Amino acid sequence: MAKRAGNVRALALERINTLFNEANSEFKIHSERSHRYVKIILKLAAKSGVRIPKKFRSNYCRKCKIYLSSGANSKVRTRKGKLIVFCNRCKTYRRMLLKPKV
Ligand SMILES: [Zn+2]
Repeated sequence: MAKRAGNVRALALERINTLFNEANSEFKIHSERSHRYVKIILKLAAKSGVRIPKKFRSNYCRKCKIYLSSGANSKVRTRKGKLIVFCNRCKTYRRMLLKPKV
C-alpha cells in the first residue's frame, strides 16, 4: 500500500514512451493497434497523473482518442510559432505552442 508515488509515475512515463514508440512503428501496418495503444496510454496517464510528454502531444487526438500520423490521418502545420494539428477523423484541430517561454 505504501508505494512511492514518484516511482509509479516514473514507471507510467516509461510505459507511455514505449507505447507511443510502438504505436508509431505499428501504424503503417496495423493502424488499429496504434489507436488501441493511444487508449491505453490515455488511461495510464489518467490513472497515474502523468502528463503526456510534449513530443507526443501531436501524435494523438484528444477527442476521438486515435493515433495521429501527420500526412496519413492528420495534418500538421505551423503558423506563427504555433503547431496546428488537424484530425481527419473528427475534423477538429488543436493549436499548440511550439516553444513555450520558460
Ligand atoms: Zn479526432
